[in-house]
Amino acid sequence: MTVPVTEVPEALRGKRQLSAHESFAFSCHPGVPCFNRCCADVNIILTPLDVLRLARRLELPTRTFLDRHTLTPITKELHLPVVMLRMNDDERKSCPFVGEQGCTVYEDRPWACRMYPVGMGIPPARAGVEPAPVYFLFEDDFCEGRCGDRRWTAEQWRADQGVDERDAREAGYRAIVSHPWFIGGRTLDPKRMEMFFTAAYDLDSFRSFIFETTFLQRFELDAELVEQLRSDDEALLEFAWRWLRFALFAEPTLTVRPAAPAQRRTS
Ligand code: SF4
Ligand code: SF4
Repeated sequence: MTVPVTEVPEALRGKRQLSAHESFAFSCHPGVPCFNRCCADVNIILTPLDVLRLARRLELPTRTFLDRHTLTPITKELHLPVVMLRMNDDERKSCPFVGEQGCTVYEDRPWACRMYPVGMGIPPARAGVEPAPVYFLFEDDFCEGRCGDRRWTAEQWRADQGVDERDAREAGYRAIVSHPWFIGGRTLDPKRMEMFFTAAYDLDSFRSFIFETTFLQRFELDAELVEQLRSDDEALLEFAWRWLRFALFAEPTLTVRPAAPAQRRTS
């Protein structure tokens, strides 16, 4: 099935769409003459897990990582905040994490870097239809990996690059991005946009929100889960999706504690 151009994210417009069984040639290794060419002057959208893993790798609080290494472009088309990796302010606009030997954050490289040369789009939500991903191929002239003799389908490439494992951990995030609530162009108010940004990307501030406000008095949470949320970042991110479905779409993903009865007057 070919997706109408109006439903394709801007970055993927004009790229060749890959059908499920279509294969492409690709082989990238340090010996290619274009080594590191793709790590400059590129728009890399970061997922919440990208931000978390990169911040932890660099031993930075999430807020500091966001301030130092990201941009948050605002366009009319966006129904949720988007976070992009900030390129260096040099002539090549190189990625801050590229070194002579390649990517210095390779094990925690962003989702988009793992996927290259494949791009993925999720069509807008439609009532009663589970949105299925659609794949595209970047055919950049500078990339000599395209001349390699190894062939891949999009699914094989994803599995090889560890994308399947990443996507399984971020299923909750993608379910919010393509949530039917947005059908018909509904948009969140600025307060809810900010709520989404904090819970999805600024996980240290989200943890403060859980533990340093009245949150735990207002919601019933299992004691074991509360302990996990204190120290397990990825469990906290998983919990963020529950919270956001409750806060953004009024879904019953959390239980509100009953209000304490008013004190009876004794005199
Ligand atoms: S994060 Fe790594 S793979 Fe991605 S652009 Fe930067 S150096 Fe290249
Ligand atoms: S082959 Fe393509 S992906 Fe690999 S380093 Fe060269 S430009 Fe980058």
